[in-house]
Amino acid sequence: MARLSELTDRSAVDAAVAEFKRLGRQAFLQKYDFAESEAYFARVDDLLIDSKPLVAAIWAHQYPERPALRAEDFSGGPAGAGRALRRLGFDVVTQAQLEPPQLGDSYRDRTAIYDRYGGNKQAGIIRLPGDEFVSVFSDAEGPYADDPPTLAEAFGYRGEGLVGPHKVTAGGNALLESARLSVAPVRFWYRPRGEPFTFLTWVVVLGRTWVAGIGGDGEPRPELEWQLEAVAGPTQAEWSPQVRESLDDAGQTVENDPHVPEARPDATYAELVDRVEGREPQRKPTGVIRTDYARSAAARRAVLLRSQGQCESPNCTGMPAETNRRGEPILDVDHIKDLALGGEDHPRNMAALCPNCHACKTRGRNAARWRRELLRVVALADVAALHAAKQQDRRLWVGDPNHEEPFLQGQGKPARPSEVYGSTGA
Ligand SMILES: [Zn+2]
Repeated sequence: MARLSELTDRSAVDAAVAEFKRLGRQAFLQKYDFAESEAYFARVDDLLIDSKPLVAAIWAHQYPERPALRAEDFSGGPAGAGRALRRLGFDVVTQAQLEPPQLGDSYRDRTAIYDRYGGNKQAGIIRLPGDEFVSVFSDAEGPYADDPPTLAEAFGYRGEGLVGPHKVTAGGNALLESARLSVAPVRFWYRPRGEPFTFLTWVVVLGRTWVAGIGGDGEPRPELEWQLEAVAGPTQAEWSPQVRESLDDAGQTVENDPHVPEARPDATYAELVDRVEGREPQRKPTGVIRTDYARSAAARRAVLLRSQGQCESPNCTGMPAETNRRGEPILDVDHIKDLALGGEDHPRNMAALCPNCHACKTRGRNAARWRRELLRVVALADVAALHAAKQQDRRLWVGDPNHEEPFLQGQGKPARPSEVYGSTGA
């Protein structure tokens, strides 16, 4: 490995720059055998010189008798070529500083974005080198099989980290947390299935909440769900009054973060429905739980629990043989009557549907009939699931008379077993 600290010769620097000017970019790259897709450039007057080839050229001029530097001999970026060039007095700039991504910009995949801007080509939350703003990547084909964001209302984005508990203090989650605390706008990129990645919208981070999830290794774990909302542009003047109000609310309670999952993995359908209906005992306000988002997440989880991994449509011709990348059944949670049309964000207006049934219900010729049928079926499923949860609680009480504060569906306060059954107790 060549030591870039050995680059010291000013005349070699001047010779390399003069050579770039004389040959032009393509011939210069060809001479030193480097590709042009570089995130980092040395700015010389109005010229931009690709940073790694420039380092190789300076090396060649200073050490003509030693082997030439090849691309794999040293790293690019701020720690490698960038640092060496800065030390030699160059102004080093990045592609993101020169030409930041514009709304609507589209790339074949993450590698194409990496080729243009550098940085990390895998993580879901990154800062492109030199970029002022954080970028979030949401991928319909990613590990979380993200749904398209709902641009008209707040939506959730599952935090970064495929295995082990999510952390607020590390990696991409820390970037997003700092955007939340500083109320900074974030670039939101989305890739629909089989399509390119597009810088779809600016978003702000309204809050975050802990949810119970399953890691890539199949183990239950706490996961961060970020609550994002689309805004018209990066400056606060472009944000709607509602968004600014939500940000104010969230900001007031920022300190109260319990750092624990807000939903237990074993929460019952009835408990989740209670949360949706706001009957759950108040926790410490955290700025996220006060918004509707946590309720919305509970509704979604309740529906998935109720579905038991099966499409809830009575017309279903069968679930896909394939699971999603997390090993779970491929199910979309759909609002039967659209929220935009006044539909409730409640499990009794939501169905877990396989992709086929979801398409029929949304785009089919008989969509109206599908909606009516689904509402009927889901109402029955809702009652059955609540009843099943009640039976389960009853068994729990009978089996364990000392059980504290059993949950009783539909009553304002928890009931002791003796109050329910007239048991004489001890
Ligand atoms: Zn189906």
